[in-house]
Amino acid sequence: MRIVLVGPPGAGKGTQAAFLAKNLAIPHIATGDLFRANMSQGTDLGRKAKEYMSAGQLVPDEITIGMAKDRMAQPDAANGFLLDGFPRNIAQAQALDAYLDETGRQLDAVLDLEVPEDEVVRRIAGRRICRNDSSHVFHVEYKAPATEGVCDVCGGELYQREDDREETVRKRLEVYHSETEPIIDHYKAQGLVTTISALGAVEEVTERAMNALKRD
Ligand code: ADP
Ligand code: AMP
Repeated sequence: MRIVLVGPPGAGKGTQAAFLAKNLAIPHIATGDLFRANMSQGTDLGRKAKEYMSAGQLVPDEITIGMAKDRMAQPDAANGFLLDGFPRNIAQAQALDAYLDETGRQLDAVLDLEVPEDEVVRRIAGRRICRNDSSHVFHVEYKAPATEGVCDVCGGELYQREDDREETVRKRLEVYHSETEPIIDHYKAQGLVTTISALGAVEEVTERAMNALKRD
């Protein structure tokens, strides 16, 4: 299956993607994670992305689209993938449509995670991620690690993302409403969107997501 996850920052896309990707045996492709991996490896791409990310802005399309296509072209993505955080504006959605057309593939579903803004803010404020792998995600209250500050998965150090500070979060939410939300209508026109509530326990949301995907 080829799936796009949409939702505001902090909705729980990465958390859900980890379970869904495992259940469906497809890779979880998160452009935010790819940028953070590049940043910690000190690549050129990472250096370029950092200035936009710390300001809560979108990394320019000419950097992002190429990186996403390269990742989707890897052998493990030949039979499907779960996109998380891409596409994030109409130009990226059009580039993805064109790329899938060219490679004779299509999307199966777009899952839209709906969460009230005050809950999103609580989720982001308590989010802690692992230095070794930013797909290892915790929450100080909702998903506390067994030992404070230590990743349950690999023992890495947990830290708060620089762009999870309050001022930057406000900017990211603004960017979500103005740039990213319009892609939902873009995909509604293709009959691909299912909106589910992302409130409740992680497992409840996963169950809603799996049910939504079954109907497609
Ligand atoms: P996104 O990828 O959409 O930015 P994350 O998956 O990183 O969001 O989740 C944001 C924060 O909220 C994380 O700290 C995560 O542990 C927490 N979280 C995710 N899903 C839930 C949930 N259903 N209930 C409570 N907290 C959650
Ligand atoms: P995320 O991990 O999805 O919350 O993304 C963190 C940050 O990475 C965003 O605020 C953007 O600065 C950048 N980013 C991630 N994905 C994209 C994308 N598809 N287009 C542009 N910027 C992105």
